[in-house]
Amino acid sequence: MTLTEQELLAKVPTKLYIGGKWVAGHADKPISVEDPATAKTLLEIENATAEDGLAALTAADEAQQAWAKTAPRERSEILRRTFELVRARSEEFAMLISMEMGKPLAEARGEVAYGNEFLRWFSEEAVRISGRYGSSPEGTGRMLVTQRPVGPAFAITPWNFPLAMATRKIGPAIAAGCTMVVKPAELTPLTTLLLVANLEEAGLPAGVVNVITTSTSSATSAPIISDPRLRKITFTGSTEVGVRLLEQSAKQVLRTSMELGGNAPFVVFEDADLDAAVAGAMLAKLRNIGQACTAANRFIVHEAVAEEFANRMAEQMSQMPLGRGLDPETKIGPVINQKARENLERLVKTTVSEGAAVITGGNSKDGAGYFFEPTVLMDVKPGSTILGEEIFGPIAPIVRFKTEQEAIDLANDTVYGLVSYAYTQDLKRGLRLVEQLDTGMTGLNTGLVSNAAAPFGGVKQSGLGREGGLEGISEYLETKYVMIPDPNN
Ligand code: NAD
Repeated sequence: MTLTEQELLAKVPTKLYIGGKWVAGHADKPISVEDPATAKTLLEIENATAEDGLAALTAADEAQQAWAKTAPRERSEILRRTFELVRARSEEFAMLISMEMGKPLAEARGEVAYGNEFLRWFSEEAVRISGRYGSSPEGTGRMLVTQRPVGPAFAITPWNFPLAMATRKIGPAIAAGCTMVVKPAELTPLTTLLLVANLEEAGLPAGVVNVITTSTSSATSAPIISDPRLRKITFTGSTEVGVRLLEQSAKQVLRTSMELGGNAPFVVFEDADLDAAVAGAMLAKLRNIGQACTAANRFIVHEAVAEEFANRMAEQMSQMPLGRGLDPETKIGPVINQKARENLERLVKTTVSEGAAVITGGNSKDGAGYFFEPTVLMDVKPGSTILGEEIFGPIAPIVRFKTEQEAIDLANDTVYGLVSYAYTQDLKRGLRLVEQLDTGMTGLNTGLVSNAAAPFGGVKQSGLGREGGLEGISEYLETKYVMIPDPNN
């Protein structure tokens, strides 16, 4: 039975979760969590201070030794049980994600399926942490290599995928035997609180995962990062904040995983299957209302098909109803807040002043909520401001190219390197692109790359490390090598 919105909100914990207890925060004022489709408050929750942050780290530190010794199978089964609980309650999670973040319910269901998969995937990885044993080359010793949990980790997550960004970190940390402090984004903290209630129900011991919600991210996080008990920081968010956290982490030489901003090129060649390219473009641009690190940011289209590609995208985009995520008609939700919307208005204005034409959209929608029309900008000039920034909204700038080399150069002309998309039916060209596009991931004839079984992450200023796949758990493990004399002597 589906809950009403009020019944669902009544189930969401509103306190901090520290050492297995739901506790009040020490800040004077609560955090008011808003619905971006109505600009109204959904729920008020506790607000942590630096003191609360350190209490959470103390709880994580105290739980670390016992958790590292807990059998991998037990860690695995806690994750698996949580996966089953979230699956059984997937509609509740989807509703909550849609309410606090704004995405259409159908997309929120997709996020639940995707995000929950990290719990299942890492429940399977927990029992496969292995090492090796062998002879030293000269035969005089034996070399044993094992892996140990890094130690207490601090996870900071963004607002755009409230469930998936949390499970991508909590899953591997639990599997590896690390304890954690998790700080969700203040704009969308409710899903993480509900997730942790499910982890608790699944039997996660006190102190293994601790959650602090705060409106003072910097002041609450800094003392945790400079505390010698912390061994790892894992962050998903903007490059700007990531750089600041890397600077802070350097003082303690912390292990770091950084999933930062993107500026994905979407390259369409003259030999592409245009139906597939337009479908992929719609997905890569409009998923999450364009607010994804993997969102196609720059459409680089061969001049022979640019006009047709742009018109087809514009036609489809102009027919997508805007509305609140829970409304079944809605295809495009609001952007996250007024600041985000003003940024989109600025980008359209600037790009037009730099010579581009608006062929659909271009405006904010009047009324409550932070709605912005899906927009196609044609004939965007190389070097335009919009091509150098992460758009984070439903705007598709289209640039024309003539030669393959020109397309590759345009695609790589960014400080970011998270994901690229390329559409061509020529296999050799496709492989040349895969080899030359300077990104951690490429979608070849597809607009969607995310998968719990794949190593997600970027190069250049898009980050360090990988989440998911076989690689994901190693971000939470340290290699330990042991030398033993030859047992035959
Ligand atoms: P953000 O960098 O503003 O915030 C991310 C998190 O960091 C939030 O929890 C925020 O409260 C916290 N934070 C901000 N300043 C801080 C500070 N000084 N100290 C400690 N914590 C601080 O990013 P956002 O707006 O929440 O998310 C959007 C960004 O995230 C985009 O750049 C997007 O590309 C990126 N992102 C990347 C990935 C990826 O996997 N590469 C995935 C999703 C989002």
